[in-house]
This record gives sequence, structure tokens and C-alpha cells, in this order.
Amino acid sequence: MLRVHSFESLGTYDGPGIRLVVFLQGCNFKCLYCANADTIELKGGTETSIEEFVSMAKNQKPFFGKKGGLTFSGGEPLVQAKQLLPVVKALKEEGFHICIDTNGSILNDDVKAVLELVDIILLDIKHINNEQHQLLTGKGNEKTMAFVNYLNEINKPVWLRYVLVPGYSDDQDHLHELGKKLGVYNNIEKLEIQPYHELGAHKYEHLGWEYKLKGVKANTPEQLDKANSILKNYFKEVVIN
Ligand code: SF4
Repeated sequence: MLRVHSFESLGTYDGPGIRLVVFLQGCNFKCLYCANADTIELKGGTETSIEEFVSMAKNQKPFFGKKGGLTFSGGEPLVQAKQLLPVVKALKEEGFHICIDTNGSILNDDVKAVLELVDIILLDIKHINNEQHQLLTGKGNEKTMAFVNYLNEINKPVWLRYVLVPGYSDDQDHLHELGKKLGVYNNIEKLEIQPYHELGAHKYEHLGWEYKLKGVKANTPEQLDKANSILKNYFKEVVIN
């Protein structure tokens, strides 16, 4: 059984086409800007069976069109890789397109088996600089960098996602470093710049946590354009999402 935080039908933001987005419970990071802070707690969520997933997917199939399908997000979906594997297997047997939205910090045999089956990995790169990554997420970025390498070895299509936090992850030198280190991988099809927003901040109050990015303003159009103009030197396609 997979533990689900929530579902979003008709999602257009997490992978190609129209998708059923499954937010799984539990994450091994604690990002300062997490918009889904209530998914971080490892316990909890609603246990959902393989049959329930397949039935939901079949019901929503008419909306998926040629490109759409399901995206497993979170939380960090690969925290539950062992339980996720049979669900992904069953969905692939029914011909569904599957994406995983991951922070790329877990790589074990179950994760490898999941990665083999899914169509596109939406890989969240939080920061290219290890210290800044630690500051933003509570963990270093070594495992994510090794994950990128592994995805290249198995030639798995990847869409990178990068949250541009003013004063934290928009330094121009770091953006060039990101491009130089990751722009060399042919399996990375595009990079999505995700503007920073405070929409999830109210959840912190509810959880009794401090929102440490209080006062950080949403990106200006100029900041987004600048990041775009740097990153498009390195990646096949860059979009602001
Ligand atoms: S990896 Fe994603 S779900 Fe986990 S804390 Fe960071 S933003 Fe939130």
C-alpha cells in the first residue's frame, strides 16, 4: 500500500499533457520554501491499493490524451519506492505514461527498478553549491549529483526543475556552474525555472514551524529573465514554469 497525501486531477504542471498527480506522504528533505510542508512528515497519509490507482487512472484516461498520464510527486515519492514499484508496474502494464517528481537523493535497488519503468524523471535540483544546498534543504547535494549521473547512464529522459529563490539560488555564478555541470548530459531534455512564491507559507504556521524565508519576495520579471538568459546557454530548452 502506498501512503498518499492527496490527489490532483487535470494537472498541467507536472510533466507533459494533462495528468493525475499523486502527492505521496513523506520526505527526507526539509526545504525552506517547501510549498507542501504538510507532506514532509514521514508518517500518515491514506493507504491506497494498486487496484485503486489503476481504477482512478482508467477513469481519468479520457482526459490524458496522447501525452498525459500520472505523476508521482510528494513529499519525496522514492521514500516509498518499495511500495511504489508494484503500482508503477501495474500502471505501465495498462499502458499509462508515468513521471516521477523527485529530489534525487535516494538510489537503491527498488528505486532503480522504478526508474527503469517510468517515462520521464522530473528532477528537482535545489542548488548546485553543496553548502547552499545544505542551507536550503538540510542535506548536501552529493546524492542528487550521483543520481543525475545514474540517469544519464541508463539514458532516462529528465526534465530538471529549479526553484529560483531571490538571494538564495539566483546567484549568477551559481547559475553558470549549474549549466556547466548539468548542461553536458544529453538525456536532460529541458530545464524548468520555477519562480519562488510564498503560497505554502501558511502551512508552516499550522504545523507550528517557523517559515524561515519570511520577507523573501517573489521574483521580479527581470530576475526570471536574467536566469533564463544564463541557463539557456547550457540547456536544450529552458522554460519558466
Ligand atoms: S524535496 Fe520537495 S517535498 Fe521535500 S521538503 Fe523539499 S520541496 Fe518539500
